[in-house]
Amino acid sequence: MALRNIRYMGDEVLNKKCKEVKEITPKLLQLVDDMIDTMYEANGVGLAAPQVGILKRIVVIDVNMEEPEPIVLINPVILETSGEQTGSEGCLSAPGKVGMVTRPNYVKVKAFDTDMNEFVLEGTELLARAICHECDHLDGILYVEHVEGELMDADAVSSEE
Ligand code: ZN
Repeated sequence: MALRNIRYMGDEVLNKKCKEVKEITPKLLQLVDDMIDTMYEANGVGLAAPQVGILKRIVVIDVNMEEPEPIVLINPVILETSGEQTGSEGCLSAPGKVGMVTRPNYVKVKAFDTDMNEFVLEGTELLARAICHECDHLDGILYVEHVEGELMDADAVSSEE
């Protein structure tokens, strides 16, 4: 297991647009593994490559609370969204903070897996939220830009969730 250092808000790497992955290399596969380990270690439901300082279009997500079921999205493109959900959202790059964000309730995304096979993934609720949040990271957008009202301390609102 190898952990990467998570970059925090204020680090300019988080505001940059990421480049498409052109080929799968052993180094890239190692990065994906490290991102998954880092996400679990930090108890996150998603992590994007720029959050560990790498400007490539790679996202890992796992919204399954029961057992690990990591999803890897390489060069993801959101094809379709519908509905709306408003809820509290946080980010591993802004630890201890949450804010209310409205996202689509359904998202359809296409991406490549680690064999560079294209696939389509559909998600609702938390998965839809995670896909939108992580794909935003690849364009240098942080969830705080979408927050309605103010950022709050996670401790203060945890009782409401
Ligand atoms: Zn984030």
